Amino acid sequence: MPDPATMSKKGMVTKIHTRIRADPFTASYDLVGKELGRGKFAVVKTCIEKASGKQYAAKFLRKRRKGADCRMDILNEIAVLESAKANPYVVALHEVYETNTEIILVLECAAGGEIFDQCVADNDDAFTEKDVIRLAKQILNGVAFLHRNNVVHLDLKPQNILLTSARPIGDIRIVDFGLSRCMDNITEVREILGTPEYVAPEILSYEPISTATDMWSIGVLTYVMLTGESPFQGDSKQETFLNISQVNVDYSQDTFEGISSLAVDFIKSLLVKNPRKRATAEECLNHPWLNPLPHSHSHSHPHLHTRPASSLDEPETSQSESEPESPAPSPELGLIGSYLTQGGLKTGRDAFSFSDPPFPTLPEIQQELIC
Ligand code: ADP
Ligand code: MG
Repeated sequence: MPDPATMSKKGMVTKIHTRIRADPFTASYDLVGKELGRGKFAVVKTCIEKASGKQYAAKFLRKRRKGADCRMDILNEIAVLESAKANPYVVALHEVYETNTEIILVLECAAGGEIFDQCVADNDDAFTEKDVIRLAKQILNGVAFLHRNNVVHLDLKPQNILLTSARPIGDIRIVDFGLSRCMDNITEVREILGTPEYVAPEILSYEPISTATDMWSIGVLTYVMLTGESPFQGDSKQETFLNISQVNVDYSQDTFEGISSLAVDFIKSLLVKNPRKRATAEECLNHPWLNPLPHSHSHSHPHLHTRPASSLDEPETSQSESEPESPAPSPELGLIGSYLTQGGLKTGRDAFSFSDPPFPTLPEIQQELIC
């Protein structure tokens, strides 16, 4: 639990233990060129530590954004990563460097990329229900750990859940704690927004954020992983927000063809408008969907391979007959984006841009967000 003196009114923790190195990053690391991803203010590249030969992901974060100093936000991200270092499903922070303009986070490299790619992949490459059960357990294990430590992630989406390897499907790593907050000071957190399709109804109605806000996003995430469809995506952002506030979800047999009714029940326990009535991470971990009886015959996708779900403590990788090949993002999910990426640098599937705010007060919120 952070010392209140190191926590701002917005739940930001700025006291960190990691030594921030001022010597040149390139003296200790070789950048090997491959860009792993990018957001509005960050670029993530593969690098090799010269001393060990080990591969890492270097996240380069600009300290000034839109003319404002955002060093404290980056320290908050570091503090959260430090607080979660005991959990294997939260990406590990190795080192931190600082230059005049940037802070560089040297992170464990999750070489399998974003689960997004598999969510939108064609049938053969898409997750099986068994895969989703195993990965959902790991995500929940990581998120339960954060919640036990009073941390909310606030931006859980398929681009921020990575895999240690793509084929066979490895284990998950939760990344991007740029919006995370410490819950000890909850009242001031209400202005923060995550990514439109994953945003919980309480954010749209300006009610306080809580750990339940992440649980909503896990409901959306699970829906996308199982069906390849984004449950609240409308033709316009207004429609998306309306769908969210009305909890307008398609649970039809068509959409959930071949997926067990326990999976649907699990999602229904999370896509609940009242945050107090939403399942917690611990409750989810005890849900029968994630704890199949040894001899039960829950049906899963007919064309899917059957593989027992692994235990949380023993991360297991699946065997896949297919050869690695990058699946192309599907157009339906090509619109996933973030308020934080608005008008920004993201390209391709992250190029989603909201020109008009869904509610009159949103521009003020975005000002705060864009920092
Ligand atoms: P942003 O705040 O800009 O969204 P992220 O931390 O989400 O920054 O990083 C952007 C992208 O970079 C991620 O969506 C992912 O594709 C890639 N990435 C981030 N961290 C890692 C990592 N540790 N290993 C591999 N890829 C990463
Ligand atoms: Mg991100």
